[in-house]
Amino acid sequence: MNTKYIFVTGGVVSSLGKGIISASIGKLLQARGYKVTIQKFDPYINIDPGTLNPYEHGECYVTADGMETDLDLGHYERFTGIRTTRQNSITTGRIYNTVIDRERRGDYLGKTIQVVPHITDEIKRRMLREEVDELTSKQVLEVSSDQGRADELNLQGKQLVNLSTKNSSTKYDFVITEVGGTIGDIESAPFMEAIRQLRWQLGRDAVCVHLTYVPYLKAADELKTKPTQHSVKELQSMGIQPDILVLRTERHLDDAIRHKVASFCNVDLECVVQSEDMPSIYEVPVNMQRQGLDAAILRKIGVPVGETPAMKLWHDFLDKQRKASKEVHIGLVGKYDLQDAYKSIRESLNLAGIYNDVKAKIHFVNSEEITPANVSERLAGMAGIIICPGFGQRGIEGKILAAEYTRTHDIPTFGICLGMQMMVIEFARNVLGYKDANSTEMNPDTSAGVIDLMEEQKSIKQMGGTMRLGAYECVLVEGSRAYEAYGNEIHIQERHRHRYEFNNNYQKEYEDAGMKCVGINPDTNLVEIVEVPSLRWYIGTQFHPEYSSTVLHPHPLFMSFIKACI
Ligand code: GLN
Repeated sequence: MNTKYIFVTGGVVSSLGKGIISASIGKLLQARGYKVTIQKFDPYINIDPGTLNPYEHGECYVTADGMETDLDLGHYERFTGIRTTRQNSITTGRIYNTVIDRERRGDYLGKTIQVVPHITDEIKRRMLREEVDELTSKQVLEVSSDQGRADELNLQGKQLVNLSTKNSSTKYDFVITEVGGTIGDIESAPFMEAIRQLRWQLGRDAVCVHLTYVPYLKAADELKTKPTQHSVKELQSMGIQPDILVLRTERHLDDAIRHKVASFCNVDLECVVQSEDMPSIYEVPVNMQRQGLDAAILRKIGVPVGETPAMKLWHDFLDKQRKASKEVHIGLVGKYDLQDAYKSIRESLNLAGIYNDVKAKIHFVNSEEITPANVSERLAGMAGIIICPGFGQRGIEGKILAAEYTRTHDIPTFGICLGMQMMVIEFARNVLGYKDANSTEMNPDTSAGVIDLMEEQKSIKQMGGTMRLGAYECVLVEGSRAYEAYGNEIHIQERHRHRYEFNNNYQKEYEDAGMKCVGINPDTNLVEIVEVPSLRWYIGTQFHPEYSSTVLHPHPLFMSFIKACI
C-alpha cells in the first residue's frame, strides 16, 4: 500500500483538542496493524518552542533525537508509543530557514523566492516526509522503534526486534499531519495552500479531517451549528473540502444536528462524528472508534475496513482507570500555575497512579510562595512531592526548602532536572555544610558550585537548541533504588534538556554523607541520578523521565514513586 496522508485542521476556536484527536486517529489505525506517524506543523515563526515561556505555549516536549517540540508530540507518543523525531515537529520558522538558506546558497538559480510556490513546496515536502536526508543514524534508529504497533500486534521480546528491523525504513502506511492554529489565521494560510495542492495531487490517498465546535446556548436551550458552517465555508474558500468533520461538544448531538451539518457542509452523514467531553482524554480513541471515525477514514481512502480491532490492552487500562478511586495526594512544587506547563509530569503521575489502582490527585504548590515558616503547612497532607524542572532564579529557594522539608521528614520526593539540582544544593547547604552552595546558573560567584555549567556549554552564545538535548545512555548502580525501580536494568536511555550538571568534584563528599550517585553517563561520567538510600524514596534525575511515559508503558520511576507514596 502506498502511503496515505491524513490532514487535521481546526476551526471556530483553539484548544479543541486537535492533538488528542490526531493521537486517537493514530492509535486506531495502529490498532489495525498499520504503521503510522503523526506530525505537527505550527504556524509560528520560532524555529522551535524551546525558547518559549511555558505561559506562551505550555510545556516544551523533547524527542529522543533532541528536538524541542510542541506538547502535542507528548500526546502522540503517550497514545501510540511511537518515538517521534525532529521530523515530526515543524514550524513556519524552520520552513523559512530552510528556504532562505537555500536562496543564500544560490540553489534557486536567480528566481524570485515567493510564498507560493517556494514556501508551500517546502511545506509539502515535509508533509510528505521527503526530508529523510536530515536524519542521522541515531534518528533512524528512533524512527524504527514503534512500541505501540508492537503492542497492538501483541508482539513481545524477540519478535519486537524483528519488527523494528523490518520497518527500519521511514515508509509509513499513514502520515497524520496536524496543523496548529485555527482556520482563518493569516499565518496558517501557506499550510492550507499546501494541503489544497496535496489533496489535488494525491487524490484518494489524502483525507482532510476538520475539527469544529458546536456551542450550547443556555438561554435558547439550543446547540448551534452556525460556527461550524462558517468554519467549513472558510476552509472551502481556500479550496479545501473537508472529508470528515469532528464536532466537539459538551452535550450529545442528535441525528438531526449531524444531518444538518452534513447537508450544509457537503459531508457524508457517516463522516460527521461527534466528540463529546470525556472524563479522561484516554477515553477519546474508544469513543471515536465507536462512532466509526477510523472506518470513515479508511472508506474515504478506499482501503477495506475489515474487523474492528479489540484494543484489549487499551480497554484493560481504561477499566483500571475507571476503577481507581482511592486518592493519593502529590504536591507539584514549581513556579508555573498552569495545567499545560508540566503536562508530561502530570500525565506520567496519572498513568502510574492508574496502574497502581489509585487516582493521583495533583496539587500545585507555588515554589515562589514557600518560606521556612509555611513549608510544613504548604506540604501538609502530601503523600509525596515532585520538585519540578525549570530555568532561572525565580522560585528556587522554595524548591530548596521543600527538598529540605521532605528529606528531614522522610516524605517520598522526586526531583526532575532543576528539581534534582535543588536536592543536590539543599544537601550541600544543610548536610555538607556549604552554606552558600548553589548552581552557577543562579549564582556564578558561589564558593561551592555543586551544580555547574558543562565544559562544552561554556562557549555557547546562541540560546536556541543548544542545551544537552535528547536521549543519552545511563548506567545504573546495582542494588540502588533506581536500579530496582527499572526492574534491575543496568543500561537505560533517558531524555535530557539542560545546560548545568552535577559537579563531579564533590561526588565523594556526597557519597560519604549519604547521597549516592547511582546513575552515570558511561561516556562522559556525568551524574544522571542521585538518591538517599536511607530514606524511603528520595531520588533526583538530571534527565526527564516524564517524556517517555506512555499509556501502555508507564515509566518505571513514576511507578516506583507512586508505590512509595501509597
Ligand atoms: N536550568 C537547569 C539547567 O539548565 C535545569 C533545566 C531543566 O530543569 N530542564 O541545567
